Amino acid sequence: MFATILNPDILTVPVPTPTEKLVRSCKRAKKMTVKRNQNLRYASQVKECMISISEMSGPDYLALDLAARNERRALKERLEKYYRCLCGCASKSLYRKRTVGREATFITALTCSHRLCNICNMLRAAKMRRTFGKFFMNEERNVPVQKAQLHMFEHIPVNTKTVIKLVVDKETGEQIEESERKSFTSGSDLLRNFDFMHLTLTVPHGPDGWDGKKYYAKELLEKFNIMRKASWWVEMVFGGELSVETTRSISGGLHIHIHAMILVDKRVWGSRNKLQEQIMKRWNALTVDSTHPESEKLIDGATPEGKLRWEGIRKSMTGCGDNYFNDFMLDLDGRGSTMIGIKSLYYQLKPNQIAERSQKRTFQENGKTYSYCSSRFPQSMVKGVMECLKYHFEPCVLENDDGTLDTEFLKEVLPNIFRQRLYGKFGGFYGLSQLNVAEEAISLNEMVEDLQDTGSEAFDPRTGQPMEDREFVYAIADSRNISFSENKPLYYLNKSNIRLEIPPEVGMIRAISILAEWGYHGDGNGQKF
Ligand SMILES: [Zn+2]
Repeated sequence: MFATILNPDILTVPVPTPTEKLVRSCKRAKKMTVKRNQNLRYASQVKECMISISEMSGPDYLALDLAARNERRALKERLEKYYRCLCGCASKSLYRKRTVGREATFITALTCSHRLCNICNMLRAAKMRRTFGKFFMNEERNVPVQKAQLHMFEHIPVNTKTVIKLVVDKETGEQIEESERKSFTSGSDLLRNFDFMHLTLTVPHGPDGWDGKKYYAKELLEKFNIMRKASWWVEMVFGGELSVETTRSISGGLHIHIHAMILVDKRVWGSRNKLQEQIMKRWNALTVDSTHPESEKLIDGATPEGKLRWEGIRKSMTGCGDNYFNDFMLDLDGRGSTMIGIKSLYYQLKPNQIAERSQKRTFQENGKTYSYCSSRFPQSMVKGVMECLKYHFEPCVLENDDGTLDTEFLKEVLPNIFRQRLYGKFGGFYGLSQLNVAEEAISLNEMVEDLQDTGSEAFDPRTGQPMEDREFVYAIADSRNISFSENKPLYYLNKSNIRLEIPPEVGMIRAISILAEWGYHGDGNGQKF
């Protein structure tokens, strides 16, 4: 998997053997079918939800005030759209099928790009893994370093060049050329020379939300923006990426929080502790819930809850002595957040990996075992980045433990996350096109680009050997109901599944565009199904 994202300039990419190719390709198709079936399971529950809303009695409806009626209508619209996306996503997929026989390989699918679609989120994750992998492996110095960040690069080689830009002369209105010296670093230099940390920021919340708002993602992001302007932040943090996660809170209401990956100057001694203190102080002041008028001192042991909270903070701030800690606590307000997580990047270990890891590099949380990443192993770093940024493609935990959809939670978040920004890049990563992972529908160009990464050549699904044109046809079929071989990496397209056959002479790119044209009915709002 990882071999495909290494930069060929610095490392030789092992060419996958035919067997590896078969296994990988089959895994990809299988995942597609699994996610498609998951989407369809969700769809039936969403439909029930829609029916229950529509079945409201006339008198009940009349009793609603205008705001409640509008809310009901908006929810209905969001649910209908979600239902269409769940039903339609990957209902048209492109395969290569052997002319004789039913064995096929999956090429690509038309997707819905809904934020809560299981298929689209799987594809986003794959895209992100490739994008970040490529970026941090790249030795090319093409990442601009702003003047305010140059102090972090005193010990790191940078390329400096003169960049000419056009500016408008304020007096004459003419365009004039202005030259500027600019410095550039590379993804791999960043990986080697910075501490990558996973920062979690929460706010105190109850059934009514936080600071008078039930849904507070926007306000949360604003506060984080303010915090990043502090001089200590600019001094220590090169940049990073953030995403917002929403879960159902135990106390009722929504638990909305930020996960961020930050790149911290390695030379700052005890950087983690220093940063944690500063963040704790600032974030606490910024997140004070103003609906409680009285400020609240945190006192050790004053109440059982107070004691618990005090101990929690003490445990997280391992780096400071008792006297200093007691003084530090005097600055905090009980109405603001005191839950700040800051850790070196980590990723979750699979059960079979746990025994072989040294305990020093692992930790346990909520019954799961995690391993810290090491910049000596770029693969582990990419895993850590993915763990940190997975909320880009898992913005809400929608599923109950039994695999069903939590429809009450869905009804609460669906109207709110619509058009709400849920992730972003900041500092040195702001506007960096190399790290863009588009959330919108995947364009034809991107589809083709993705295929170049995942392998676009025609090969025999039984042997992995190259296949001649006359040996296969392109077939458009629904990704559901595809049958798999029990013990071989093979999957089969039945005649009844196939909705359109395209002769191989047209070529893969034309076949993809036929899929796109044929499947797209253009209601101006993504695909209509
Ligand atoms: Zn989708």
